[in-house]
Amino acid sequence: MSVDRPRPLVAGNWKMNGVKSSAKVLTEIHAGYTPGLKAKVELAVCPPATLVSLLSYASVGSRVAIGAQDCHAKESGAFTGDLSAEMLADAGATYVIVGHSERRQYHKERDVEVCAKAVAAHRAGLTAIVCVGETREERESGKTLSVVRKQLRGSIPVDSNSRNLVVAYEPVWAIGTGLTPTVADVAEVHALIRDELRRLVGKADAPKVRILYGGSVKPSNAAELMAVENVNGALVGGASLVAADFLAIAGAYLG
Ligand code: PEP
Repeated sequence: MSVDRPRPLVAGNWKMNGVKSSAKVLTEIHAGYTPGLKAKVELAVCPPATLVSLLSYASVGSRVAIGAQDCHAKESGAFTGDLSAEMLADAGATYVIVGHSERRQYHKERDVEVCAKAVAAHRAGLTAIVCVGETREERESGKTLSVVRKQLRGSIPVDSNSRNLVVAYEPVWAIGTGLTPTVADVAEVHALIRDELRRLVGKADAPKVRILYGGSVKPSNAAELMAVENVNGALVGGASLVAADFLAIAGAYLG
């Protein structure tokens, strides 16, 4: 393994799923996060904001990080219903997902807003998981690389580095559909992301930034996807709701 290769991260995005009793999923994840797995891969769980505090307390001492799924760009103020990155950090989060395609699609978030949220995450001491990815139409019309490049340039703040930034490549058409790109397609996009990171965070730090693949990752395809060059982990939606599946995905790193 190259010295520059980052420690992989498998992060679960619970989306709008989970109530207090879902803490048992986290307990099961703790139980299955064996010393062997801990040595190979970092785990994070991103529950709905209502559970960030509860799961953060439940996770103390476990080395499973807790993240949030979105944040507001401002630190505080008259933004009814919103949550600042500082509040999420105060509740125990260490990661926050920004620019997920469901936010881009349903809340019309553009790169400029995603970037402002990532700046807020950094201000609060959180690591931003910045999501990018093309739609089916964009892929079919051969625009994947230009779309992802534009999203990266617009969404990643200038103060980013390998400690406060994770990039997730999530083809929109692969999310929740059971469809995945070919290994060659994943490799092509991740190579482009690595290349862009050299411009964005500098040549020395770029190899250390984790680039996750997300979109219908499951136990049966995880090993193949995680073995692709420049794939440093996964952002997992549906399969992260079942501890055994989430752990089996992370288990791809046991070889
Ligand atoms: C996601 O929403 O980030 C995701 C990858 O979802 P799924 O794994 O369900 O496709």
